[in-house]
Amino acid sequence: MNRFSRLANTGYIGVLALVERGIPFMPTTTVGRLQQIRLRSIVRHAYRTVPFYRQELSRLHLAEKDLRTAADLAKLPLIDGALVQQNRGMFLSEKYRNGGTQSFSTSGSQTQVPRVIEWDNGSVLRKLAVAERDRTVLNRILAPGSGRKRLYLLPDSSLSLTIRAYWEDRTLLAADLGPDQKLSPWVPYEVVAEHINQHRPALVFSYGSYADLFFRYLSDRHIPFNPPRVWAVAGDMLSPQGKTLMERDFGCVVHSVYQATETGRIGFQCERCSGFHLNIDLCAVRIADDKGNTLPAGESGQVIISNLHNRATVLLNYRLGDWATMAKTPCGCGRSLPLLDKLEGRTSEVLTLADGRRITGFALRMDCKDALDGVLQDQLIQSSPDLIRWRIVPLGGTDRQQLRKRLIIKSTDVLGEQTRVEVEIVEHIPFSRHGKIVGTVAETAGTGGSQ
Ligand SMILES: [Zn+2]
Repeated sequence: MNRFSRLANTGYIGVLALVERGIPFMPTTTVGRLQQIRLRSIVRHAYRTVPFYRQELSRLHLAEKDLRTAADLAKLPLIDGALVQQNRGMFLSEKYRNGGTQSFSTSGSQTQVPRVIEWDNGSVLRKLAVAERDRTVLNRILAPGSGRKRLYLLPDSSLSLTIRAYWEDRTLLAADLGPDQKLSPWVPYEVVAEHINQHRPALVFSYGSYADLFFRYLSDRHIPFNPPRVWAVAGDMLSPQGKTLMERDFGCVVHSVYQATETGRIGFQCERCSGFHLNIDLCAVRIADDKGNTLPAGESGQVIISNLHNRATVLLNYRLGDWATMAKTPCGCGRSLPLLDKLEGRTSEVLTLADGRRITGFALRMDCKDALDGVLQDQLIQSSPDLIRWRIVPLGGTDRQQLRKRLIIKSTDVLGEQTRVEVEIVEHIPFSRHGKIVGTVAETAGTGGSQ
């Protein structure tokens, strides 16, 4: 892109960023009004230009005026990634049939095939301004100007780096990354530690599962390490044990962003809480049961989103495939954006027990926090409702028999006598080809996001 266009984009995003900075602090009614304006606009757009919605609104005898609030969106059919992927043309606005879009791919996981989502160019560019909402949180934690000293420990195909490359090409705001600012997640941990010790970045970005393993490895091997002030994670889950280790033993501030290829930034953490403030004016969020009925705050269930700002692949009432809980009380930080209290991972990682209860791998790890002491890496496998198997890579010097015994006792305590627990000691659990670790494999899961 030529320099004049990049300058024009830079000015445009600079002005938008000033507005974006204030949005999290605006009164709830103002944010609600912003949400309604975007919602009505995207419904009109979907009705007029997106084949799936034109067909479905007509079939359900719904008019544009029947979809005026976020709650009304539940009247639409509940859709998911598999449906969208099989019928990509049906969800793409006719206005973008001949270009004007940028493709982004989901990385996929053990249970999902990668999916391609088209974003209209204007929305992708404006995401740079939207990022200002959580950038202000980081600026309060980091020393002035130090945020530029950053390191990305992510594959080039990650959402963060793909979108950053787009911004680099079209604005002057995202400066080109130097060779010292990017390392592949497949580089040995000793090399990464040495790189960080030498270059002293203030801010490091990685997947949650990467940070989890990296810090446990350093701790186990007593590798000298000067941690950055902030370690930012996204993309997958950081375990409760990993977060404690990073904060308590290494003195890092852990910052998480909740984002997805289908939605952009759904939410971000503030300085006060571990939940996520939701950007509901850009992406409506509700928590629902398997049938799509909205659940009250405090009850955990599936995350259903409606993307209100992307006008290319239009996704309304979309099952994202995550499992979470909405907070009952607002955050005390002064931001009015509502709070997602707990994000517990993928729906496909929810374990369904023999007695009918459901528990996420994240919650089980939380309950077994002490029993998992001495563990470098773990993975949960459920092959039948009455059998859960832990695959464990112990830290050096750990009494393996003791570890096995206490983990079986604690897990049985949490899961109940009807569920048999086995512990398999292994030497290594590999990353997926996308650089993430699948923490829980629920081979019996019937309600995953990939349905
Ligand atoms: Zn807050």
